[in-house]
Amino acid sequence: MKKYNFNAGPSILPREVIENTAKQILDFNGSGLSLMEISHRAKDFQPVLDEAVALFKELLSIPEGYSVIFLGGGASLQFYQVPCNFLIKKAAYINTGTWANKALKEAKRVGEALELASSADANFSYIPKGWTVPTDVDYLHITTNNTIYGTELRKDPEVSVRLIGDMSSDIFSRPVDVAKYDCIYGGAQKNLAMAGVTFVIVKDDKLGRAPREIPTMLDYRTHVEKGSMFNTPPVVPIYSALETLRWIKRNGGVEAMNKLADERADLLYGEIDRNKLFRGTVKEEDRSRMNICFVMNDEYKELEKPFFDFATERGMVGIKGHRSVGGFRASCYNAQPIEGVRELIKTMKDFEAAH
Ligand SMILES: *Cc1c(COP(=O)(O)O)cnc(C)c1O
Repeated sequence: MKKYNFNAGPSILPREVIENTAKQILDFNGSGLSLMEISHRAKDFQPVLDEAVALFKELLSIPEGYSVIFLGGGASLQFYQVPCNFLIKKAAYINTGTWANKALKEAKRVGEALELASSADANFSYIPKGWTVPTDVDYLHITTNNTIYGTELRKDPEVSVRLIGDMSSDIFSRPVDVAKYDCIYGGAQKNLAMAGVTFVIVKDDKLGRAPREIPTMLDYRTHVEKGSMFNTPPVVPIYSALETLRWIKRNGGVEAMNKLADERADLLYGEIDRNKLFRGTVKEEDRSRMNICFVMNDEYKELEKPFFDFATERGMVGIKGHRSVGGFRASCYNAQPIEGVRELIKTMKDFEAAH
């Protein structure tokens, strides 16, 4: 049976990305060796890294003066590494859920970090608004898409301070005004690549200013200066990221990804709003296009398990909601075909008709 992958992360990747990466794992560039068994310093690997960086810059229109680096440790390590490098006196964080909260917690270990706003009062079902950032903060940290709760900023906020963004789950789903940011980071395993690599975009002239001793591996300068080759980078995950970047380019870039994200989200939220069995879990204007969360309407609560089983029988994978929200979450990253969304909608309609 055909499977429709709605996993939140690691998650769906374009078939071509998987196939091309598999080919290189068997025989890298016709060398007779696997991508898994070559040196990261082999002359054939450098072009992989260079092209990945170049495509990052091209696809996101990254201005001059920024570096793109590939690291290990996941977005979770960035929660600490970011303040370590960028927090001088004070930083502000918007708490929009689990990941944002973890980022704030790590920043507090480093220095003064204030929670500027939070939507904890309503189980993170909206993006807080109406706050003003103190002008003396070094940066404002935002989580542009909240993978667990299904809210999304969709636009880079208009503020008078520098931004730092966790874009783990929405990178390359929309154009980003990179010039507003000192740093953008994320784990690759949501919208970019297989698990194992972290992307970081940093503004070069903002590095080296923090008044603390930074361990070598946590200092961005180490990796910028060595072009992500200070130590062994995750070779295969970087290659898979390159394949995704090529795929994005072939398919029209972030503008095209943005349109597709709107299309998928309009269809699926449309059905959630129409279908008597279901309702969305977040404020309409803050709905994520990447992670679409919904639950059974109160009077149909007992149908949750039956719907899950019904959808599983139809080949839907990974739609169980995160335990902090419950219900369902359909992750619709760039690689999610419209057909997958249509099949899920059909499943919802058929289930409604049967009840
Ligand atoms: C998944 C996720 C993380 C954690 O990523 P790791 O690479 O597993 O550390 C952080 N932030 C957001 C928004 C995420 O979706």
